Amino acid sequence: MENCSVCGKELKSFIEIDGKKICPECFVCAGCGKSIAEEKYQNKDGKNYCQSCLKDMAPKCKICGKTIEGPVKKLGNDHYHPECLKCCEC
Ligand SMILES: [Zn+2]
Ligand SMILES: [Zn+2]
Ligand SMILES: [Zn+2]
Repeated sequence: MENCSVCGKELKSFIEIDGKKICPECFVCAGCGKSIAEEKYQNKDGKNYCQSCLKDMAPKCKICGKTIEGPVKKLGNDHYHPECLKCCEC
């Protein structure tokens, strides 16, 4: 019998992540701690996050304040839409 590599309990059902077997309850979002066993998740910097946390982490445009999906222009620590940045330059 194998044990969960997070909580150490015996595995009845498991998910395999990076060669480690863990129980579904232990497979949680690194941001909010919600179980993401049944959800879409994405690996970011070696951690798994749920969709809503990923949305919160997405860069926001400093000019229009909207989340940037797609190409991001970076200036220092600030993020901009390429379109928004253009208006400022001219
Ligand atoms: Zn576990
Ligand atoms: Zn989350
Ligand atoms: Zn913008």
